[in-house]
Order: sequence, then C-alpha cells, then structure tokens
Amino acid sequence: RNSPQRLVLGGDLAHAIEFDELTVHFQPKVSVTDQSLVGAEALVRWRHPERGLVGPDEFIDLAEERNLSGPLARFVLGRALAECARWHDEGIHIGVAVNCSVSNLLDPSFAEDVEVMLAMAAVPPASLTLEVTESMQVLENPKAVASLRRISDLGVQISVDDFGTGYSSLAYLRRLPIDEVKVDRSFVQHMLTHEDDAAIVGAIIELCRSLGMRVVAEGVETGEVWSALQRLGCDQAQGFWFSRPVPADERSEEHTSELQ
Ligand code: C2E
Ligand code: CA
Ligand code: CA
Repeated sequence: RNSPQRLVLGGDLAHAIEFDELTVHFQPKVSVTDQSLVGAEALVRWRHPERGLVGPDEFIDLAEERNLSGPLARFVLGRALAECARWHDEGIHIGVAVNCSVSNLLDPSFAEDVEVMLAMAAVPPASLTLEVTESMQVLENPKAVASLRRISDLGVQISVDDFGTGYSSLAYLRRLPIDEVKVDRSFVQHMLTHEDDAAIVGAIIELCRSLGMRVVAEGVETGEVWSALQRLGCDQAQGFWFSRPVPADERSEEHTSELQ
C-alpha cells in the first residue's frame, strides 16, 4: 500500500489530471443477438511520462485517498460525453458508459454536475449509462442511493457493475432505479468449464430479465462463450473477443463496417 512507487504515483496524480496526462479508451458494448454496436464503455488510462500507460487499477484507489475522485470523474465524464456527441453528429446513435466510484455518489454536487455536463455536451440523458460497482457500501447507503435516484431522474441509465461479487441483498434490485446489470467477468470467463459459474450466469440473466433489466456479460474472450450467452438470452456483451478498449480515434476495419 505504501510502496515508494505508489507514493510517487500519488504525488503525480493531481498534476496528471490538471495537465492532461489522463486519457480515455473505449470498449464496445455489443448486442449478443445480432452483434450490432450499441454503446461503448469509457475506461481511464494514465499516460505517465516515465512509466508509460498505467491502468486504472493502479490509481483509482489513490484518487480516492487523495480526494481526487471528483476531478477524475468529471474528466472522464467530459471526455465520454464529448465523444458520444461526436458519434451522434456522425449519425452513429450509440450510448456511452462511465464508471463512478462510491465517493462520487457521496458527493452531494455530483448529480448536478452530471446534469450540467449533459446539457453542455448536448447529449440526450438516456445515451449515458453510469456504472456503479455492486457493493453494500453504495447500494445500501442512503446518501449514495439519493444520488442514484437524482441521476436516474435525469433520464441517465444506471448499471450495476461486477454483479455477483458483492454479496449484497437482492432486494435492492427491486428498490433501486437499475436499468442494467453487468455479470462479473469471473463468472463469464469460466462458464464453459465450471458448471457452477454457468448456473450463476444463467440465474442472473433469468432473474434480471424477469425484473425488466438488461443484462451485459463482461470479459467475453471466445466465440464459444459468446454462443453460450446467446443461448442463455443475454442482451449485450463486452470483451476481448470482440474488441479490447481502444482510443476513440482508433476504429478497426471490422468496427467501421459495423458502424456503417
Ligand atoms: P470494469 O469497470 O469492470 O472494467 C472492465 C475491465 O475489464 C477493464 O479493465 C477492461 O479493460 C477489462 N476487460 C475488458 N474485456 C476483457 C476481457 O475480455 N478479458 C479480460 N481479462 N479483461 C477485460 P481496466 O480498463 O483496467 O479497468 C479496471 C477497472 O478500473 C474497471 O473495471 C473499473 O472498475 C475501474 N475504472 C476504469 N475507468 C474508471 C473511471 O473512469 N472511473 C472509475 N471510478 N473507475 C474506473
Ligand atoms: Ca465498468
Ligand atoms: Ca466489471
């Protein structure tokens, strides 16, 4: 936790946000039934001057510790909405998803910031999905729930990320304004070799669909898993099999033809 490397990164992070060393990559969200592109998830990266491209797992916690989660979230949201507006201008009407942390939801001004940024980017609220990790900390905290409701009332979609790992009560699925559930990749990746994982994925799909929510499987790395998800009635999928997260201006041939 207090390794010298981590301490150095912590010191640099404020500078990175201020001086534009952060960048956002996008990973396609694809319809399982017809493989059409339905959206993209924004994933932050840090172009560190000495260490190269640093992944979010190495600095999201640091941002929390250093009170930088607000500026980080606003940066990613700004980039994601600007990109989404550009897609819409090009006639590509797909959504964009942004991850948010517990402290974003505990920040009383966050919902208003989302509203203002949507208006500034002129993106319809329904084109934005906010992904919130499944944890009791968020979904059972009254302040966080109030934020989620305010954001949902704007017309923004709410997604529960890493579903199946949080051990929280299923009751909140009914009580909260949840539009989408993302099955954690630990279940998806082993569903063809571990019967238990396949049963969990199948049960999540069935439960969520019966509650009127769409289900997204993450971490799809093979065509076989894709086909299995299709059989189970999963709505959307994301994963290396279709595309890794890529910079916004990098569209492979395959995706370009998909977009046309
Ligand atoms: P996540 O939201 O669950 O994002 C999915 C992660 O899985 C991404 O890692 C993505 O690159 C990776 N992934 C996608 N497809 C596959 C696959 O087929 N196989 C495997 N093995 N991995 C796949 P990444 O970009 O390193 O992000 C890690 C986590 O950092 C994210 O997990 C999310 O919780 C967090 N994160 C990323 N961007 C942001 C952000 O802007 N704000 C906040 N608060 N958290 C963020
Ligand atoms: Ca996510
Ligand atoms: Ca996830």
